Parts: sequence; structure tokens; C-alpha cells
Amino acid sequence: MNNRMQGQAPHVPTGGVRHYGERVFNAERRDPYEQGGKYREPTQCSGCGAIWHRGRWQWGAAPVGAQAAVCPACRRIHDKLPAGTVVLEGDFAVVHRDELVRLVRNVAEREGREHPLHRLMQVAETPERVVIETTDIHLPQRIGEAVQSAYDGDLDVRYGDNEYSARVIWRR
Ligand SMILES: [Zn+2]
Repeated sequence: MNNRMQGQAPHVPTGGVRHYGERVFNAERRDPYEQGGKYREPTQCSGCGAIWHRGRWQWGAAPVGAQAAVCPACRRIHDKLPAGTVVLEGDFAVVHRDELVRLVRNVAEREGREHPLHRLMQVAETPERVVIETTDIHLPQRIGEAVQSAYDGDLDVRYGDNEYSARVIWRR
């Protein structure tokens, strides 16, 4: 194994970002797992403890009299149905897998402090790649951008047209 870049198409400069379906992302799609108005305020997730308050999930102490429910992220984790996927692959990715996974976990932890529903579901390491599954469609892009900003490489961000989904591929 070596660190050289391989398999680059000549017309794709390294460090390039290709976006697909961005308009879908900008349209503030709702997670079908998000029940919106169905939650009474305040509600606390019996899985992770997040609070539904003022129309959004947030971290905090449960207000007195909070109802119990299960938040969309915990439901996705239970159903093993991720909304987002990140694939990190290539010779460089294989050699630097441990650093990459550490960065991914740091980004997710930072993001999760602000957004309780943006979480890692699974980080699967195979000999060729790392595949990360998330509970939402925003975390994959954050991870991809953080990895690219730290290590260059090529980033490909796609949002599903007809479903709440995101797929990010980073190669180096
Ligand atoms: Zn939860």
C-alpha cells in the first residue's frame, strides 16, 4: 500500500466538491420520522433524554410534567434505518483510517451538542473503506467537509430527490 493518489479522472481536480440535489437540501426537507405537531410540549425522549421544546429537539433538563416519547433519531437507531451515509475510501483513507475515524467522531460530537437529532448510527471499517451511517441528512455533509478541509481529496455530496436522504463520498 502507498499514499499516492490513484484512479483520479484527469478532469476532476483534487479538492473539488460536486453537489447534487442541493435545492432539495435548501428546501428544508422534513424527516419523515419527525412527527412535528404530534409531540406535546414539553416532551422528553425516553431513549436519549432530548427535550422537545418550542418546536425543536434540544438538550436540557426535563421540565416538570414532561411527556415521554421516542425522538426521531432514537427511532431510526432502533429501526436501523439511517438517513445519511458517508463513505471514505481510497489508498490514503485506508492508510489513515484511524485519524479519519477520530475526526468523524469529533465532528459528530460537536454537531450533536447543537443538534440532538444529528448523530452517528454506525461506523463500519472494512479493508477498503469506512462507511458511516447517520440519523439525519446534515451530518454527512459536515463530516465530508471537515475531512476534505483536513486532508483534501474529492468530495461528492448527494441528496435524495424523493426521500429524506444524503450520501457523501470522499475519496483520496
Ligand atoms: Zn432520543
